[in-house]
Amino acid sequence: MRLRNVKGSRETIAANSLVIQEVAAHKGQWSRLFGNDHPIFIEVGMGKGKFIVEMARQNPQNNYIGIEKYSSVLVRALEKMEDFEGSNLLFIRMDAEYICDAFDKDEISGIYLNFSDPWPKDRHAKRRLTSVPFWNRYDAFLKKDGRVTFKTDNRPLFDFSLEQVKEAGWTLENYTFDLHHSEYAQGNIMTEYEERFTAKGNPICRLVAYR
Ligand code: SAM
Repeated sequence: MRLRNVKGSRETIAANSLVIQEVAAHKGQWSRLFGNDHPIFIEVGMGKGKFIVEMARQNPQNNYIGIEKYSSVLVRALEKMEDFEGSNLLFIRMDAEYICDAFDKDEISGIYLNFSDPWPKDRHAKRRLTSVPFWNRYDAFLKKDGRVTFKTDNRPLFDFSLEQVKEAGWTLENYTFDLHHSEYAQGNIMTEYEERFTAKGNPICRLVAYR
């Protein structure tokens, strides 16, 4: 993602109670923050938040946490919260490399990865959110029956991800190379990137994996 610095975004985030600071202090305690025991789902690399805000709006029976590395992007998600009436969505600004600092064993019921950065150079493969090191991280806090759902229009990244799922010892529940024309299309919530790439005519790939 090309990043434009948004002036004051760090300060805006620090002052917003929906963005949880010092996440390590909340490890194992996220239900307390939400004030209930509802299942917690996360999106890693949520960007401007269209997907997770809509998921939270449509599913008040669940809790959601959007994770984004950059303040300048996260502030755009916060803008969407101005007319959001629920209390089931929180945010974290962090690099997902340290995601295990935030969540305890079995704390998370599902993980969404949408249009994750491809990191095309081989030497950066470990930074891809669907590389084996990340599957190992997800393993540390995803509930036993939890699922990771990954969408992208980037076919090389998707093919890499299908391989890495297996290499990490996870199981593919299902996958498609053309989500919008598949049996899984119904109920799909489009992300910002998905809208953009779909408008260009790119097919969207999706996989669902579990341990
Ligand atoms: N998920 C959104 C969508 O589908 O519209 C945004 C996709 S955008 C291509 C990828 C996003 O992931 C960017 O906002 C980027 O800053 C974020 N990101 C990339 N690597 C990350 C990491 N290691 N930790 C947290 N966020 C990350």
